[in-house]
Amino acid sequence: MKVGNKLTIQIITALILGIIVGSVFNLMADQAWVQWIDRYIFNVVGQLFLNMIFMMVVPVVFISIVLGVVNVGDPKMLGGIGIKTLAFYLVTTALAITIAMTVANILNPGEGQSPLLDSDEVSEYRETELEGGATGEAIQQGFDQTLINLVPTNVLEAMSTQNMLQIITFAIFIGIAMIAIKDKTTGLVTLFEQANEVVMWIVLAIMKYFAAIGAFGLVATAFVQAGFGAIQQLGMYFLCVLLALFIHFAIVYGSAVQFLAKKSFIWFIRNFAPAMGVAFSTSSSSAVLPISLETAQENLKVRKSISSFVQPLGSTINMDGTAIMQGVATVFIAQLSGVDLTIMQMITVVIIATIASIGTAGVPGVGLVMLAMVLTAVGLDPAAIGIIIGIDRLLDMTRTMVNVTGDAAIALVINEQQTRREEAGNSRT
Ligand code: ASP
Repeated sequence: MKVGNKLTIQIITALILGIIVGSVFNLMADQAWVQWIDRYIFNVVGQLFLNMIFMMVVPVVFISIVLGVVNVGDPKMLGGIGIKTLAFYLVTTALAITIAMTVANILNPGEGQSPLLDSDEVSEYRETELEGGATGEAIQQGFDQTLINLVPTNVLEAMSTQNMLQIITFAIFIGIAMIAIKDKTTGLVTLFEQANEVVMWIVLAIMKYFAAIGAFGLVATAFVQAGFGAIQQLGMYFLCVLLALFIHFAIVYGSAVQFLAKKSFIWFIRNFAPAMGVAFSTSSSSAVLPISLETAQENLKVRKSISSFVQPLGSTINMDGTAIMQGVATVFIAQLSGVDLTIMQMITVVIIATIASIGTAGVPGVGLVMLAMVLTAVGLDPAAIGIIIGIDRLLDMTRTMVNVTGDAAIALVINEQQTRREEAGNSRT
C-alpha cells in the first residue's frame, strides 16, 4: 500500500487551514469561546493523533530494526552501512551549522537589539530553567554519559521511556543473534515479518484516517498560541533561521539526492511530502518516525533493511534543522551581548552543536534546551535563551521538518549507492 497523492494533498490542505484558522483565532485569543475551541477541539484532536503515532514508535522501531539486521544478513555489511550513515550525519550537521552561522554573520540579526537582554524573559529563564534544573541536568550529561547510555541495563525501561538509541542497540543484538543461529530462528523471523505487517498496517490506517485532521488540530493550536508579537521584535532572527533552513534543505539535501542518489529532488519532495507535513505539525522527529519509515519504504523505494536502520538512528542523532537554529541563535545572542565570536569560538560552536545534536531527543523544544550547552561552551549567558523561547514553537515545526527530511535523504543516498554497488558486482560476475 502506498501513501498516495490524495493523502499528501489532504495533509498540505490541513496544514494551510490550520495556519490560517490558528492565526485568525490568535487575534481573538482572549475570548472564552476561542479558548474553549482551542482546548477541547484543536488540542484534543491534535493530541489524539500525536498519541496514536507515538504509540507505534517503539513497536515499529524495534521490529523493523530486528528485521533490518536480519535482512542485511551480514554483520560486517551492517557495520559498513553504520559507519557510512554516521559519517553522512556528522558531515551534514556540520554543514548545517556552518550555513547557519554564515547567514547570521551576514544578516546580523542581533544588531541594535541589545535591550532584549534585560527583558523579563531572560531572568525568568534563569530562575525556572537554569536554576530550576531541567537545562542544568541536560548540560551536565556529558558526551561520556551519552556513550555509556547507548547500552540499556533494562530493556523494558528503555522501551517505556522511548529511549531510541537503547532500543536500537538492543534490536541490533537480537538481530545479530538471529543471524548467528539462523537455523533455529526461522519461525521467529516469520513472526517478526508478520508483526511488521501488522504494525505497518496500523500506521497506514492512522495516516489515512487521522493524519489530516490531527495535523490540522496540532497546527491550529500552535498558531493560536504563537508568539506573533515576539516575531515582530525577533523578525530578523526568525528570518535568518528560516533562510538557513531553506538553503540547507535546497542545497545540501538537493545535491545529495540529485548527485549522490542520482534521483530528482522534486520527485523526492513530492513523495516524501506526507512525512514532512506530519513532522511540521508534530514538531517531533520521534513521533513522525513510523510515518517517515513507511513513506521512505513505500514511496521512495528505500529497501526496508536500510531505511529501518538509517532513519531511526537519524531521528535521534541527526538534527540538522536543530543545529541550524542553534548556530543562528548563538550568533544572535553573541551580537546582543556585544561579543564578537572569534574563528576558534565559531569552530567550537560547530563541534559542540554537532555533538549536542546527537544527544537531542526528537521531541518538541529539546533543541532549545541543548542550546544552553552550546552557549556555555563559548562563554555566553544561557539565560538569553529566554528571549527566543516565545517564538521557538513556530521554528521547531520547520526545523523538525528539515531534521526528518535529512534522515530520509541520507537513507535514499545509502540505498541507491548500495544498489549500484550490487549491480556493479553482478555485472562483473
Ligand atoms: N523538535 C525537534 C525534533 O524532534 C528537536 C528540537 O529541535 O527541539 O526533531
